Amino acid sequence: MAIIKVEVDKHSGFCFGVVKAVEAAESLLKQGQKVWCVGDIVHNEAEANRLMQLGMSTIQQSDFDQIKSGTVLFRAHGEPPASYQSAQQFGLTLKDATCPVVLKLQKRVKQAYLQQKAQNGQIIIYGKKGHAEVIGLIGQTNNEAIVVETKADMDKIDFSRPVEVFSQTTKSPEGLQQIVALMQERTHNGIEIISHDTVCRQVSGRVPRLQRFAEQYDAVVFVGGTKSSNARMLFQACQDVNALSYFISEPDDLQVDWFTDGVGSVGVCGATSTPEWLMEQVAEKIRRITGIHSASD
Ligand code: SF4
Repeated sequence: MAIIKVEVDKHSGFCFGVVKAVEAAESLLKQGQKVWCVGDIVHNEAEANRLMQLGMSTIQQSDFDQIKSGTVLFRAHGEPPASYQSAQQFGLTLKDATCPVVLKLQKRVKQAYLQQKAQNGQIIIYGKKGHAEVIGLIGQTNNEAIVVETKADMDKIDFSRPVEVFSQTTKSPEGLQQIVALMQERTHNGIEIISHDTVCRQVSGRVPRLQRFAEQYDAVVFVGGTKSSNARMLFQACQDVNALSYFISEPDDLQVDWFTDGVGSVGVCGATSTPEWLMEQVAEKIRRITGIHSASD
């Protein structure tokens, strides 16, 4: 069967937090300013490269002492208090593009930390170790929060003391429920686990919509950055409903043999960190390699 249809999911692409950070960078670059972004602006190599070609550089907090001019940009994932202190110490001009959802979560974690500390409790972050957002969150707790990524990490928790759990915004609500249920089984002394589902609905709300999209096509090409947590999670959601789902980061990753033998339609979709222009490029390349010239062909 020849490919007859290649379509891009109109609901995929940047969430509002990423749009805001990218717009902040573009606006500064348009004014001719040098922009120093702390860490990758989005977990998408192609979009980060595009902005770097416009004059943005990616740095780490440890580089702050080298900056002599320009603006330091804090991306959507947020930063720990130490980054704000360091920027102030070196007298840097700061543009804080932390997503409002993450900022609110940071405040909640800080407040809970102060309350739990007073009663010998512990703050748990259900998230990916070393992820920028998680670093920003544990920074609210004087780096005392325990990060739980897998079941094995629960061994670090003292279940005879109070426990309060928050989730990284890009984790799945189901994963959080499972980990909290396992924690509940291990508590004693009548201790209750306080848990907060702080998963961002910009991500989890996409799952049912994305799955409806993925079901409509013979094959699905999911475009996402290799470092993106939500890309992995959303790709898994596609795979759960369509076994012919493929993960790529750029058009060159496409393989011709994915589109043979009974594949008549292909859906192209992506993560909250995937730019629309990249998904369009991927769709265009599929059309080219399969011999069709436009979405309506
Ligand atoms: S996924 Fe949600 S929390 Fe994260 S940047 Fe996007 S809107 Fe903000």
